[in-house]
Amino acid sequence: MELLKQKILKDGVVKKGNVLKVDSFLNHCIDVQLYTEIGKEFKRLFSDCEVTKILTIEASGIGIACVTAQFFNCVPVVFAKKSKTSNIGDDFYSSVVSSFTHGNTNTVIVSKNYINKDDKILIIDDFLANGAALNGLIDIIGQAGAEVVGAGIVIEKGFQPGGELIRGKGIRVESLAIIDSMNDETGEILFRN
Ligand code: 5GP
Repeated sequence: MELLKQKILKDGVVKKGNVLKVDSFLNHCIDVQLYTEIGKEFKRLFSDCEVTKILTIEASGIGIACVTAQFFNCVPVVFAKKSKTSNIGDDFYSSVVSSFTHGNTNTVIVSKNYINKDDKILIIDDFLANGAALNGLIDIIGQAGAEVVGAGIVIEKGFQPGGELIRGKGIRVESLAIIDSMNDETGEILFRN
């Protein structure tokens, strides 16, 4: 998605440890017009799919998922919550996710009330790095007996293993920008195609 790539080149900041900061337009201060174009693009890419719900993970995925849902007949958006305790009882599906940016692990939970075996679920998230967040969401969808339609990712860091890992499971992953390399000293960011 050309508009997104231009925005990343203009306003993205490469930090040490392979972290791309996109706070000024994607996940702290939000460029709503860009979110709208992102939502339209996910609709175009998954236009052949029946989607009954969108699943994401807090916090950065929520806004993107909500704007995207408007292009999928306003299907409900469910977000996995990061729970402080791993002892969360029987009312939730849960999965353990290690955080790339924070270097810790979270148990993420989704109430059993909000996804069920008849759901066809599109996963939406801001980044794909090592694939831990996506793996956790796929695990939760599996526990519910629902179907994963695919995953829509805004920025995939193609030099990290997540994309290969998730596609290797047979899951359709559509990323709007795939970064092949980035350099925190020069600030250079190179995209795939
Ligand atoms: P993964 O679980 O695939 O390793 O990482 C995905 C999650 O980590 C995303 O939900 C995102 O919030 C965060 N993340 C991973 N890499 C980056 C990055 O370079 N920049 C930012 N801002 N977040 C990232």
